[in-house]
Amino acid sequence: MKHVLITGGAGFIGSHLCERYLEQGCRVTAIDNFVTGRPENVAHLKGEKAFRLVEHDVSTPFTPSMEKEFGKVDVVMHFACPASPIDFERIPLEIMKVDSYGTFHTLEVARANKARFVIASTSEIYGDPLVHPQTEDYWGNVNTTGKRSCYDETKRFSEASATVYRNKWGVNTGIVRIFNTYGPRMRLDDGRVVPNFCGQALRGQPITVYGTGQQTRSFCFVDDLVEGIMRLTASDCNDPVNIGNPDEYTMLEFAKVVLKAVPGTKSEIVYKPLLHHDDPKQRKPDITRARKVLNGWEPKVSLAEGLGRTLEYFRTKL
Ligand code: UDP
Repeated sequence: MKHVLITGGAGFIGSHLCERYLEQGCRVTAIDNFVTGRPENVAHLKGEKAFRLVEHDVSTPFTPSMEKEFGKVDVVMHFACPASPIDFERIPLEIMKVDSYGTFHTLEVARANKARFVIASTSEIYGDPLVHPQTEDYWGNVNTTGKRSCYDETKRFSEASATVYRNKWGVNTGIVRIFNTYGPRMRLDDGRVVPNFCGQALRGQPITVYGTGQQTRSFCFVDDLVEGIMRLTASDCNDPVNIGNPDEYTMLEFAKVVLKAVPGTKSEIVYKPLLHHDDPKQRKPDITRARKVLNGWEPKVSLAEGLGRTLEYFRTKL
């Protein structure tokens, strides 16, 4: 029975990973300090013998007794990190610590166990990209002193950390660059565009388009993302891999898609200033590498279907 250790296991993406690895017959240890993750995301897994939830901040070292309790670990997945622009304002130091100290602590567990290590990186490492769509060999355009730097710059640091551990210690590292992902278990109040627009449409409140609404994003449904991550984890690929859905929308177009998905809503589109001037103007993954190294992986869930399933979840949270 493979043992998978997932930091951020009670988070949006981490909780889906826990569920899928348990379905595959693995033993799963989820680690979370609940800064943005929530126990309710994994409450349905509590009864499973192969599942353990440990409350711990991975920015601080694992104690010897914790490591003893983990036993042999085959896969370490470092997915603990708040990822919403409002978190960048609220808890920037926590973000920097989990991406730096947290990355070292989890890499050490992988090294000691000769485990596969996979780190959740992000499309944010491309910054406000000057290459479109973004390929993995593009080095990015990041403002190191901007409002997002606590996140994008430390994710770049965590990619560098994984690379050093691979070169110096031979750790089998994988890097997944996650593009905008949405789905059930996103926090309705996390401030990102999908929960904002969905919550506003469901409540009949104004849909807040920031700036001109001409900036673009490409949205991937969480099930597609998780499938891609699991294939990457099972592979021996050490190069960074973009995982996302190349279906690109302006935020204005996306607002209209959400309005259409909530028939009868009284919401209307209103314009608000951008939260900050580093807001990337365009984003779309080039997934050529993912298709090649992940056995033909590609996203399968359309925006209409994924949004329907997400709205269903958000309705239960209102
Ligand atoms: N956005 C918006 N209205 C909102 C929230 C976000 O127009 O209520 C825009 C935001 O300015 C950005 C895009 O939607 O251009 C995606 O923002 P999000 O915070 O979801 O993620 P990002 O990709 O910027 O990290």
